[in-house]
Amino acid sequence: MKITGATRVLAVIGDPVSHSLSPIMHNGWIADHGLDAVYVALPLRSDDAENEIRALSQFGLAGLNITVPHKQSAARAADRSEGPVANVLRWEEDGSVSGFNTDGPGFLDALDEAAPDWRGRVRRVLMVGAGGAAVAIAEALSAHVDTIYFANRTQARADAAAAGLRVGRVLRWDDLERGFGAADLIIQATTLSMAGQESPAWPFALTKPGVICADIVYRPLETEFLRAARARGLVAMDGLGMLIHQGARAFELWFGVKPDVAKARARLIEALG
Ligand code: NAP
Repeated sequence: MKITGATRVLAVIGDPVSHSLSPIMHNGWIADHGLDAVYVALPLRSDDAENEIRALSQFGLAGLNITVPHKQSAARAADRSEGPVANVLRWEEDGSVSGFNTDGPGFLDALDEAAPDWRGRVRRVLMVGAGGAAVAIAEALSAHVDTIYFANRTQARADAAAAGLRVGRVLRWDDLERGFGAADLIIQATTLSMAGQESPAWPFALTKPGVICADIVYRPLETEFLRAARARGLVAMDGLGMLIHQGARAFELWFGVKPDVAKARARLIEALG
């Protein structure tokens, strides 16, 4: 790739951000489409990044992804935003900035890919966790299901997440077994699956047949949660699907073309080793 003065620059900002897979994903798609653009990772340490993000407007960026902990600041920095949390910013021709959140819709796209019949059979969802990702996914899911149970180590966060949704309910963290027994879709949205964490013994023995189990963690790709779900013969969806589909939606917002998600998966699996 030849970088010139005309090359358009896109970035992901966050803290930390050096481990991000987004540069591999987006630069792969930029090459696929022969675009004169480059995507880099920019670490940004700030308690409130609204002003720093606003200042970025002066540099003529083509687009921005925002990751933890700056998604709320990004929504505030935008001239218009789909909601109070933004993971994508786009600079418009008139210089104004639009904010989008592709995390929740990206999760639904991944679900469509992994379990195409889910819309006809998922009524009750167990959301394990109530952090930023859990809330984004639950918002996107809420129009399609009857109930979303939030179980979270810190009860107050589950209460807040459930209160924000018409279909939201709370399940005590020590009552996870009941949730596993009732759910048609179980989503592991805590950091407990990450490498180096001690994963609990998830109560899969109580699940109904055919339950869809999604882990949004992708390091490692095959988590203890997914291993246990597969051992029980359940549908298991890994965390790369959400990452790739939220990225694909961002790419389309910036460049107006749908990128190849299968090519991205192959590249990211290679990157993850
Ligand atoms: P977050 O807002 O910091 O939330 C973290 C969640 O993990 C909270 O529910 C927290 O519970 C829980 N947790 C942390 N340590 C725990 C422990 N020892 N025991 C029980 N629960 C614990 O983070 P996030 O942005 O939602 O991200 C959550 C995970 O999803 C991360 O691993 C992130 O990498 C991954 N993720 C993946 C994608 C994707 O595209 N696949 C997208 C976003 C995030 P408390 O409230 O009790 O602290």
